[in-house]
Amino acid sequence: MEQQQLDINAIFNQFFGDQFPRHPEDIYLQVTVSPEEAQAGCVRQLRYDVRKCCGGCGGSGEAAPGAATPCPKCKGEGELLAKQSTMFGTVQIRRMCKKCKGMGRLIKRKNACARCGGKGTDRVEEQREYITLPAGCGWQRFSYPGKGHFADQDKRGTLFVTVSVAG
Ligand SMILES: [Zn+2]
Ligand SMILES: [Zn+2]
Repeated sequence: MEQQQLDINAIFNQFFGDQFPRHPEDIYLQVTVSPEEAQAGCVRQLRYDVRKCCGGCGGSGEAAPGAATPCPKCKGEGELLAKQSTMFGTVQIRRMCKKCKGMGRLIKRKNACARCGGKGTDRVEEQREYITLPAGCGWQRFSYPGKGHFADQDKRGTLFVTVSVAG
């Protein structure tokens, strides 16, 4: 039998992915397939919630363009480097900045969009998506650009799917 190549990203995703998304518009999902499906490939229907942009501000959260200021904690990056102890030793991972919730900028209450309160999103909709997983998909992570949350009216984040094998 061929030695299974372990995807380190998939493992990281299992441990940290759900808690610390790298970008606020990215979505991390996990699917479990049977050993037969992992070998032959399969089709899965995914159901997940997608954040839609606020109709008032178009996703910026600002009452007027330029109302936001860069986040001082992450210097506008939206993420911070952190050290994490894992079974592989100490590694550097990127964590979402909690101060700005990954947005990289802060909006004062008085400058925030009245409709969404500066969040940039005013509703969540369930999304149904069929994905085709190729043969040998077990313990791998697949990315689907443009299937994540809405960053603004037409730009969307990436959906990441990590495939675990049952049994
Ligand atoms: Zn808004
Ligand atoms: Zn920040």
